[in-house]
Amino acid sequence: MPDSSSTPAVENRFFDRPAETMATAELRQLQTARLRTLVERVAHVPFYREKFAADGISAAMIKSPDDLRRLPFTTKADLRENYPLGFLAVSRDAVIRYHGSSGTTGKPTFVAYTRADLDMWAGLCARFLVAGGLRPNHVCQIAFGYGLFTGGFGLHYGIEKVGAAIIPAAGGQTQRQLMLMEDLQTEVLICTPSYALHLAEVLQEGGIDRSKLALRYAHFGGEPWTDDMRQRIENDLQITCFNNYGLSEVIGPGVSGECAWRNGMHIQEDHFMVECLDPQTLEPVPDGEPGELVFTALTKQAFPLIRYRTRDIACIDRTPCPCGRTTARMSRVTGRTDDMLIIRGVNVFPSQVEEALLRVEGTEPHYLIEIDRPGTLDQVTVKVEVRSSDLSDQMSSMQKLRQRIAREIHAVTGINMTVHLVEPKSLERFTGKAKRVIDNRKL
Ligand SMILES: [Zn+2]
Repeated sequence: MPDSSSTPAVENRFFDRPAETMATAELRQLQTARLRTLVERVAHVPFYREKFAADGISAAMIKSPDDLRRLPFTTKADLRENYPLGFLAVSRDAVIRYHGSSGTTGKPTFVAYTRADLDMWAGLCARFLVAGGLRPNHVCQIAFGYGLFTGGFGLHYGIEKVGAAIIPAAGGQTQRQLMLMEDLQTEVLICTPSYALHLAEVLQEGGIDRSKLALRYAHFGGEPWTDDMRQRIENDLQITCFNNYGLSEVIGPGVSGECAWRNGMHIQEDHFMVECLDPQTLEPVPDGEPGELVFTALTKQAFPLIRYRTRDIACIDRTPCPCGRTTARMSRVTGRTDDMLIIRGVNVFPSQVEEALLRVEGTEPHYLIEIDRPGTLDQVTVKVEVRSSDLSDQMSSMQKLRQRIAREIHAVTGINMTVHLVEPKSLERFTGKAKRVIDNRKL
């Protein structure tokens, strides 16, 4: 799924030009020094102490960034086994903030920040915000949850760092969001892409006059989305959208973000080393090919993880970018190793179904995938919302639409799925991350 753009969407500006445009040799030198210090700093964390001892690892053996490959991986399961704060690398007194990942079941996994960590984090968010058009005179509305989730607070302090104004609206209450947008003349929207889609819908229904809003840009993160969805949101809200990426285990938002050319997200490689690996063999995949992203947080004090396996699937691009940033870029996240559905032996990502739906006129990108295995064969049903203007009493035209969707889904995934058309707005809406799959198989 190539993100490509030949013209800049905004003027090319930098928050920290020297860091963002560092020469490759200089970056490698910095990474080596930081990696060596990191190995020293985590040597007393029990998990790493044991692994280092078993593998004979010491800081002295780090002579280039390539030596990263000698270090052990860290997984979500390792975080759970060392719950709540087994990976803490500083004393509890030095911690001034805790966040947690949005676990769907059971307990969250916690992360921690020192004052220096929070300052560094804000600076990293400021980098991608400025790259994506944020200026000190803008008014930003944060419609992310403020809580254990890193999205709200991460962006909040990034925007403060730039010096723009913040409306901390937090998630939900869509009518109120629109009221704030109109009355305070919000120019920049911060939320998940699925919530932006919902906002656009409510805006259209409520008959709110778009010309009364000052909205110009949006920065989306927190969940994977497609380029087609970007087009849809840009058309519906008449704004320019930028994509950013991060996860709490690595730091939160600020790991990477798009520049004016929007041709992949620049990874802040002076703070995070990235690897793109085959999730089965854990060997590197060539640039441009999808693999699991693995990050090492070089500079975090409180909770630095080494080679954290994100389970996010994306590609890496190291070709030069017209913006002048020298860092590697990552593609959109096209799936997760644990979101990956194996249907009749074929690997399928929910994002592929979304991609297919966006190709069919008359459907909304609101859908629910249900998987059953009544006998020995998997059966997949996709519920798809039809646009109200395309709802028809004629059986034949609905039948045609259903077949068209099934054909597109088959073209993208290689799987035959049963399509059910449902009324507009009958599927659940999400203010945070969307849940698009119900797997009823007893696997
Ligand atoms: Zn760029």
